Amino acid sequence: MIFKLADIKGDVVRSADVAIIGCGAGGGPIARELASEGHSVVVIEEGAHFTRDDFSLNPAEAYMNLYRDAGQVITFGLPFILMPLGKTVGGTTTINSGTALRILHPILKKWHLNHGLSDITEDELNLIYAYLEEYLFVKRADPEVAGKVATTFLAGAEKLGLSCGWLPRNAKECEGFGSCAFGCPSGSKQSVDVSFVPDAVSLGADIYSCCRADEIKVSGGKASGIKGHFLDPRTEKPTGHKLDIDTQVVVLSAGAVYSPYFLLKQGIANSSGQVGKNLQIHPASSAIAVMDERMDAPKGIPQSSYVDEFQGEGIMLEGGTVPPEIHALALPLLGRRSAEAMTSYPNMGIFGGMVCESDSWGRIVKLPRRGYRPAILYSLRGRDVEKAKIATSLMAEIWFAAGAKKVFTPISGHYELTGPKDLARLERSSLRAGDMFAMSAYHPLGTCRMGGDPEWSVVRHTCETWDLANFYICDGSVLPSSPGVNPQLTIMAIAMRCAGFIDERLSSWGRA
Ligand SMILES: Cc1cc2nc3c(=O)[nH]c(=O)nc-3n(C[C@H](O)[C@H](O)[C@H](O)COP(=O)(O)OP(=O)(O)OC[C@H]3O[C@@H](n4cnc5c(N)ncnc54)[C@H](O)[C@@H]3O)c2cc1C
Repeated sequence: MIFKLADIKGDVVRSADVAIIGCGAGGGPIARELASEGHSVVVIEEGAHFTRDDFSLNPAEAYMNLYRDAGQVITFGLPFILMPLGKTVGGTTTINSGTALRILHPILKKWHLNHGLSDITEDELNLIYAYLEEYLFVKRADPEVAGKVATTFLAGAEKLGLSCGWLPRNAKECEGFGSCAFGCPSGSKQSVDVSFVPDAVSLGADIYSCCRADEIKVSGGKASGIKGHFLDPRTEKPTGHKLDIDTQVVVLSAGAVYSPYFLLKQGIANSSGQVGKNLQIHPASSAIAVMDERMDAPKGIPQSSYVDEFQGEGIMLEGGTVPPEIHALALPLLGRRSAEAMTSYPNMGIFGGMVCESDSWGRIVKLPRRGYRPAILYSLRGRDVEKAKIATSLMAEIWFAAGAKKVFTPISGHYELTGPKDLARLERSSLRAGDMFAMSAYHPLGTCRMGGDPEWSVVRHTCETWDLANFYICDGSVLPSSPGVNPQLTIMAIAMRCAGFIDERLSSWGRA
C-alpha cells in the first residue's frame, strides 16, 4: 500500500526484511525486485505521492509539489548553477525527460581499470539494460510527435553534416504534451512512480510517503532498521508522528545530494573520507533561437533529439523545450527587454548542451544552521568552461544553419548573436567560469562512489557499504563517474544488480 499523510494517525512501529530510504531511480527498482522475491519491503519517501490526474501542466504548482525546495536547489561556486531535484514518490524520474541511454563503453572500461569494478561486466550490464528497456518501453522518440523545435534543430545539424538523431525514451505512446518536467499527464512516461512503484505495491511492498528518514539504526556493527518522522513535504512541518522500523537490511537511495548528507549528518560509513566528495553534475548551457516561422513550443517532446558529434570530447547536445514561464528565466535579459523578447516566444526554440565528461569535481558538505539542507560546492574548472562555450557556440551555429535570425546565449558579452560575425567572436573568446550565466545541471552523481578499494570508495560493487554490514547505498551517488550520458538507466541497472545481492543475502539467512 502507498500510505499518504492522511493515513497516518499515530506513530508507526513495525518490522520488515528491508527498509529503503528514497523512492527514485535507485530505490524503486530495488523495492520491486525484492518484493517479487517474496521479501517484506518498506520504502520511506519524503515527498508526497501523485498520479497523472494530479499533473496539471502548471509549472508553478509542479515545482511546489514535486521538486525539492520548489526547484530552487543551487550549487555554490563559479558560476552558481541551478540543479533541480525531485522530491516525490518516483523521485527525480517523475520530473525527468525520459531519455534512456546505456553507459558508454570506454567509461565502463575506466570503471574496471581505475575503480576496481571489473565485477560489473559489460555482458551482465547489457542483459540488465535489455530487460529494463523492455520493461520501460524504451524506444526512439517519434519524429511525428517530437515537435517543431526538435525537427528544425535536427535539420540544422544535418545541414552541417553533424552526427545527430532521435533519443531513446522510456515512454509508451507519448502524445507530446511537452510537460515531462512537471509530471506526465498522460501516464506515458514510464517513470518509477508509474512502473516499479505500482508493481512493487502489488507484490506487497509498503510505501510511506511524506516521511523523512532521520537515522539508520546500528547494532553490533550492522544496520538494523531506521527511524524517521512524518511531515508536510511543502512546509516541512512535522506532524508529530514518528516511524521506527526494525529490519535485516537497510538501503539508502536518497540521491547523490541527500544520501551523502544523510551519512555526514549521522557520521557513519565514512572511514574512507570519500562521502560527499567526487560530485559530478553534467553542467549544461543553452541556446535560444528566434526563427521566422512558429515553433509552437512547448508542444511536442521536450527532449527528443540529440547531436553527439563531440561526445568523445565530453559534449552532448539534447533538446530541452520548456513552457514560457521557464523559458523566460533562460533568457539573458531583464525587465522590459526580457518582456519584449518574450513576445517572440511562439517563434523561439531552445536547445541544451551538457558537459558530460568533465574536469570539475564538487562536494556535498554539512553546514550548521541551514535546516535540513546541505551546501553543494561546485565550480567549473579545467577545460569545462571551454567545453561549455563549445557546446553553446555549436548550438548557435546549428540554429543559424536552421535559419535563425538571432540566438541568445547565457555567455557574458555574447548574450545576443545575430550572425556569423558574432558567432566567430564567441568562438575566439577566452572565457572564465564567471562569464557563464544561467547554467543548470540535472545529473548529480558520484558522492558515495563504488569501488574495489575501501580507502577510496564508500561501497563495494554490490553497493554494500565497506563500513557497516547489511547497509547498502544505491542511487546516483554510487556511480564512480558520469556514465557519459543521462544516468537514469544506469542507476536503475545498478539497482537491479544490488537487489540481486540483497536477495542472496536474505535468502541465505532464510536457508540457515
Ligand atoms: C528536470 C530533470 C530532467 C532529467 N532528465 C533525465 C533524462 O531524461 N534521462 C536521465 O537519464 N536522467 C534524467 N534526469 C536525472 C535522473 O532523473 C536522476 O539522475 C535520477 O532520478 C537519480 O536517481 P536517484 O535514485 O539517485 O535519486 P532520485 O530519483 O532523486 O530519488 C531520491 C529520492 O529520495 C528522497 N529522499 C531524500 N532524502 C530522503 C530522506 N531522508 N527520507 C526519505 N526520502 C528521502 C527524495 O525525496 C527523492 O524522491 C533528469 C533530472 C532532472 C532534474
